[in-house]
Amino acid sequence: MPLWSQSLIPTLRENPQEAEIPSHTLMLRAGLIRRLSGGLYTFLPLGLRALRRVERIVREEMDAAGALEVLMPALQPRELWDRTGRYEAMGDVMFKVRDRQQRELVLGPTHEEVITELAAREINSYRGLPRTFYQIQNKFRDEIRPRFGLMRAKEFSMKDAYSFDLGWDEADASYQAMYNAYTRIFTRCGLRTRVVEADTGAMGGKWSHEFMVLAEAGEDGLVECEGCPYAANLERAERRAPDAPPPPQAAADGAAESPRDVETPGCKTIEQVSAFLRCEPARLIKTLIYTVNGRPAAVLVAGDRDLNEHKLARALETGDVALADDATIERVTGAPVGFAGPVGLDIPVYADQGLRGISGAAAGANRADTHVTGVSLDRDAAVTAYYDLAAVREGDRCPRCGGRLREKRGIEVGHVFKLGTRYSERLGALYLDEHGERKPMVMGCYGIGVTRTLQAVIEQSHDDKGIVWPAAVAPYPVVILDLDPSVPASAGAAARLAETLEARGIDVLVDDRDERPGIKFHDADLIGFPLRVVIGRRGLEQGKLEVKRRTEEKAEMVAIEAAAEAVAARIREWSGGVKE
Ligand code: ATP
Ligand code: MG
Repeated sequence: MPLWSQSLIPTLRENPQEAEIPSHTLMLRAGLIRRLSGGLYTFLPLGLRALRRVERIVREEMDAAGALEVLMPALQPRELWDRTGRYEAMGDVMFKVRDRQQRELVLGPTHEEVITELAAREINSYRGLPRTFYQIQNKFRDEIRPRFGLMRAKEFSMKDAYSFDLGWDEADASYQAMYNAYTRIFTRCGLRTRVVEADTGAMGGKWSHEFMVLAEAGEDGLVECEGCPYAANLERAERRAPDAPPPPQAAADGAAESPRDVETPGCKTIEQVSAFLRCEPARLIKTLIYTVNGRPAAVLVAGDRDLNEHKLARALETGDVALADDATIERVTGAPVGFAGPVGLDIPVYADQGLRGISGAAAGANRADTHVTGVSLDRDAAVTAYYDLAAVREGDRCPRCGGRLREKRGIEVGHVFKLGTRYSERLGALYLDEHGERKPMVMGCYGIGVTRTLQAVIEQSHDDKGIVWPAAVAPYPVVILDLDPSVPASAGAAARLAETLEARGIDVLVDDRDERPGIKFHDADLIGFPLRVVIGRRGLEQGKLEVKRRTEEKAEMVAIEAAAEAVAARIREWSGGVKE
């Protein structure tokens, strides 16, 4: 029978300085974790119990979906990462080490390389497919900004899974199976998640979804449609183009103005130019000089919009887009930085679809201190292509239904990717089909931040007294507060109830500390056990004890003989807490 007095549960009265968001504060205050150094945490007994319960749910659902559990090394040879080109691509996020023979190794930030290499060696024929493998293991990432406790750590637990299929349709089925399993996992953890379309970024691949926990503290921006199920990470979010560009201000008679150079001394920013020319920002053509695959290109968005680089990269089907340096800008525009415009440029020009058909607009003149007004984009510039490039924001129109998009913040707890054949081709994960033809396996990869999920549960489920654990992942579903542990009758009643509950498969912690009742109540609320049983002198005299859910205001008095069943009945309601 676990006794509080024998454990290590260092609850804190005050909010620790190091924590900025509620879940981080509560994990420290409830004595679940302790910081070792930036982004590195130790799990204390209660925190570890909660983590194990999340892991167990993940394992059960992965197994139920037919995935096979494996365990791969965290240490991996650099050479493997060179073969996929990701040693470079990952950059400083990877922790790099050497062994005594000076061989270079990395601490795995993820495991596509290792698992694909395994599949390449061990699976040779269509008979060995499909297979999905998973592991629950610590990942290492040298994050630029580790913060918020377990939310963004340098070492964290991930459940990663990888599917290998014969072809694209089959891979879609594996993807769907993982997607469905993720939905069940988060629901069982008591989390409400929002699935959003996501960018595929450095992973490569065709398609991906993220599972987001909506929260103010979320590091990801997302939009959701008020009229249909469309939801997307801001990195990927699309918008329906406006029906028409804003009408020209000047040419009221319908005749389009012709371009005219105007001196704009010292006006470089949109605000300066807009004020000087008395032209609304939406009618300015913001011209950004980028390098795309090493070559300069101009990218245009309306002056009141931001460019989304992720969307630019995807539209141009490359990972290699970057703002050009000043020297390049001056070379291709012939003007100092701040006066670039699309008219007369002889590099590719990619424009946001929102600019299509715009006239009477202003842009940089590619000459110092000069802008050009009266620009009709299609007439006056050679636009190579229009794409949806602008960053989406609140109030934009849904790409699916035209409804209004609303902005939210979220914590990414899970991510599923359709990877395709990028890794299997580079690492030789090929199989022989029925006709003896060699083909690359089609892959998917799937991640759940296990430690982040645990903290996200707290971020979503707490009140001003502390954590409110869903029963399925609570460190203990039941706490028994023995208010008089030195009185044998009280200690005896607590022990008997605990044993009865344990015999029924219900885990219980007994608070037998020599502490004032106020402290025990306070700590029980802070840690957030779903059910609290109080054994006190007055109740005992009547043969009764108190049972209360964490979410209830008032306790119920229950006869001691009926207490075990009363607790079990409540646990059954929640399910998950009983091992039967
Ligand atoms: P993020 O965008 O938050 O950096 P990511 O997209 O790089 O995450 P993935 O490679 O998709 O992360 O990893 C799978 C899951 O691992 C994520 O959905 C997230 O829950 C978790 N995760 C990623 N990085 C961290 C971290 N530094 N600390 C804790 N959990 C993390
Ligand atoms: Mg991700």
